[in-house]
Amino acid sequence: MANKGTIGVTTENIFPVIKKFLYSDHEIFLRELVANAVDADQKMKALAASGEFKGELGELDVRIVLDEDKKTLKVIDNGLGMTEEEVDKYINQIAFSSAGEFLEKYKDQIGNIIGHFGLGFYSAFMVSKKVTIDTLSWKEGAKAVKWSCDGSPEYEMGESSKTDRGTEITLYIDDEDAEFATKGRIQTLLDKYCKFMPVPVIFGKEQEWKDGKYVDTDKDNVINKTEPLWTRKPADLKEEDYMNFYRALYPMQDEPLFHIHLNVDYPFHLTGILYFPKIKDRMELTRNKIQLYCNQMFVTDSVENIVPDFLTLLHGVIDSPDIPLNVSRSYLQSDANVKKISGYITRKVADRLEEIFKNEREALESKWDNLKLFIEYGMLSDEKFCDRAMKFCLLKNTEGKYFSIDDYKKAIEGEQTDKDKKLVFLYATDAVAQYPFVEAARKKGYDVLLLDCELDAHFVNLLETKIGDCRFARVDSDSVDNLIPKEEKIRPELSEQEKSDLDTVFRSVLPSENNYYVTAENLGENASPILITQSEFMRRYRDMSALGGGLNFYGEMPASYNITVNMQNPLILKIMGAKAEAFAGKELADPVAELPKDATEDQKKEAQAKRDEAVNARNAELKEFASGNEILKQVTDLALLANGMLKGKGLSDFIARSEQVVAEAYLK
Ligand code: ADP
Ligand code: MG
Repeated sequence: MANKGTIGVTTENIFPVIKKFLYSDHEIFLRELVANAVDADQKMKALAASGEFKGELGELDVRIVLDEDKKTLKVIDNGLGMTEEEVDKYINQIAFSSAGEFLEKYKDQIGNIIGHFGLGFYSAFMVSKKVTIDTLSWKEGAKAVKWSCDGSPEYEMGESSKTDRGTEITLYIDDEDAEFATKGRIQTLLDKYCKFMPVPVIFGKEQEWKDGKYVDTDKDNVINKTEPLWTRKPADLKEEDYMNFYRALYPMQDEPLFHIHLNVDYPFHLTGILYFPKIKDRMELTRNKIQLYCNQMFVTDSVENIVPDFLTLLHGVIDSPDIPLNVSRSYLQSDANVKKISGYITRKVADRLEEIFKNEREALESKWDNLKLFIEYGMLSDEKFCDRAMKFCLLKNTEGKYFSIDDYKKAIEGEQTDKDKKLVFLYATDAVAQYPFVEAARKKGYDVLLLDCELDAHFVNLLETKIGDCRFARVDSDSVDNLIPKEEKIRPELSEQEKSDLDTVFRSVLPSENNYYVTAENLGENASPILITQSEFMRRYRDMSALGGGLNFYGEMPASYNITVNMQNPLILKIMGAKAEAFAGKELADPVAELPKDATEDQKKEAQAKRDEAVNARNAELKEFASGNEILKQVTDLALLANGMLKGKGLSDFIARSEQVVAEAYLK
């Protein structure tokens, strides 16, 4: 006699609720049912192992049987099965009520949890109009039970004709979800969720090509690997195994750089294999390549909030039953276990890198350029990681040599300590464009780092604070003498008038779109006549604002350059001599200075106007002088050229003028 009953739920009718809330993730029903079947098999195995069950265990497996015509899908296991009482307890009472409570509790944030928790057995109703369970318990004398429910909160329970141990769940797929009654879709889902489940999952037969079509063989089509690499002992595995596993996970990706095998039992369980991918630039950053498993069952491939942000750049697999997945994502971050797990993974990544640094230095150096962005990003975003990484982070110089930070400090200490005892790290961001400056520094006995990665503007700031008592200066941020000032220098003595003249003369031959600060320096007679540099501070802040980070103010300002005029260079001496000659006796009248103490407002205004007029007149004359001086144009253009700043008309004028200058010098 069939037994009827009402399912004990608090929510009036749970099925519409299940359907509605889980709409976007209908597909997880299959994972849930297969997971239950796998559990049942493993419990059976445990019963046999403990001696509680003494009968024939058989080959434990899970079979998925699809009937496309009848639109039924069966999940069949030969696990421990359920007695009538157990069906009542686990299916009618507990599962239903816990699902009800769950929805009740989280209904406000239900949007967050969609897809991140399993409703277990009842998720079958997301895609079915009717579900039946046929089950026979392993227990002696147990009778087979049939349970069925058509989606209303009423079920029927009675006898089943099942004769072998285990459970067979049959879904009668409803019309809106007909896709789940197709072979292709089921195959895809099994591949996604069940690829590494610990018990063989069988879907139909393997096929072979025969007489112009595919036909079934009599070999079972097992869709999973029951012992994926991360569950095996690292000591038993070779590098090649790790590479093969990576290729199986990501068939289209470049080879990874290194791997890490994670394995911890206490205070939480976690296994997994992570890979450092090759990263060439920021455009290539791909997140969420880590797959999260729970006891070999795929859960998700979005691991944000579970691992620190920079680690989401890694690839691979994490398997942990201790990550609470049936809660909202925002809750995860504050979960104590998740914090521990996240801390553990960060530590492991640092450990592994340190080990590579110590034992495989050559490999690390050869792969550094592809690893660097990841490490710098980690150091910038995670303080703990940064403190560890200071040990294994490498610096590369413009000659392509790699140093640890400590070794580098030792290497440059002698030459690159300035008069205030600060260590000065020189760097180039583009070894080709900044070549003249790099060369000048090298000639002086300095070493120049290459910091050409997109994060380097921020990274340099970080290093300054972490290393302490040091300063980073881009090699073109000042004249080579001023980059690392060794002693107080004697500056040229110029009158205010001379300074102002110098300023006007040079501004008038420089491209007008930038800001310039013209200063006179004694750089020695063999040094270049003019040096164009960009202050480290301004440039760095402009670079950082370009990367984003709330410094837009700097990004909007016009570029500013320091124009250093070498007053000891013979060409400059000659040009300035010519200027002095041209302006001899032309002292600028200053009616403002000559005003009597009791001058009226009107008199003051008039004097100021006269003064302005005189200044303008002089500036106009200075400009005329400058534009008439070919050599002045020539040396300024050479300085622009050294900085890659000479373009367009300026460049073609320069070429024409150079040809003329060369011809004159040679043919005369
Ligand atoms: P959970 O798996 O989280 O316990 P489910 O709703 O998936 O929740 O399942 C409820 C319970 O029903 C299980 O704990 C188990 O006792 C029982 N059950 C479900 N499927 C099977 C099965 N295939 N074989 C034996 N017992 C099962
Ligand atoms: Mg379950």
